[in-house]
Amino acid sequence: MVWIDLKRVPVALTIAGSDSGGGAGIQADLKTFAALGVHGTVAITSITAQNTREVRAVQDVSVDVIKAQIEAVVSDIGVDAAKTGMLHTSEIIEAVSEEISRYKIPLVVDPVMIAKSGAPLLKEDAVGSLIRRLLPVAKVVTPNAREAEVLAGVRIGSVEDARRAAKLIADMGPEGVIVKGGHMEGSESIDILFYQGDFIELRAPRLESRNTHGTGCSFSAAITAELAKGKDIREAFRVAKDLVTHAIMYGIPVGKGHGPLNPMA
Ligand code: PLP
Repeated sequence: MVWIDLKRVPVALTIAGSDSGGGAGIQADLKTFAALGVHGTVAITSITAQNTREVRAVQDVSVDVIKAQIEAVVSDIGVDAAKTGMLHTSEIIEAVSEEISRYKIPLVVDPVMIAKSGAPLLKEDAVGSLIRRLLPVAKVVTPNAREAEVLAGVRIGSVEDARRAAKLIADMGPEGVIVKGGHMEGSESIDILFYQGDFIELRAPRLESRNTHGTGCSFSAAITAELAKGKDIREAFRVAKDLVTHAIMYGIPVGKGHGPLNPMA
């Protein structure tokens, strides 16, 4: 049983896509929020027909309904911290940026671009909107090495390169930048945080698992949950790295492709 202080329940909001396979997107986020004792709320941006192998169809939710979901949650329940996941188009990114600025919600941006299966989750022409509209209102941004390459415009082949990219991305507005090393080579998965002029590096052994679908979603959701509890970015980073390492270790073997990781582990 996860302990929640009923006198002051922390609330997190995920603004992201739905994964019908229950592995990534808002489904991963809600599991992660629950595992960390935070009440989870959602604004669904796109509905994906998806399983452990492929994304078969995508239907974007209208911008009005995305905004209405955020406003419904903020006006009644209140939000301590929010995260974004799949934001498919420039219009969606701009609408979300307006809402976040209006309500001044601490925001974690997971700059989701391409699913593990290869399906694009962010239209190519929307990368500019992400940089211009969302990063300036973000508290933390959590790219993997490939996403960091696109944002920073540099190639990342080493931890040194990742540090350089993190500094360049920090210049785009967010207080903290975490470049995740899960997609890089080596016996360890090394994530780096650049925050207030300093780097923190966290390492974990590289785990061999097929069941890693939703890793980035759970990582950014864990950061959001800890910020919602009032923790600082460094503490949130440690909790998220630890949660994801265990969640991969105990990944759920369903489907014939990449099964979900297990944030409840
Ligand atoms: N589907 C949705 C709706 C997502 O939000 C994401 C990631 O954020 C993914 C799929 C991709 O997950 P993965 O790269 O782990 O396959």
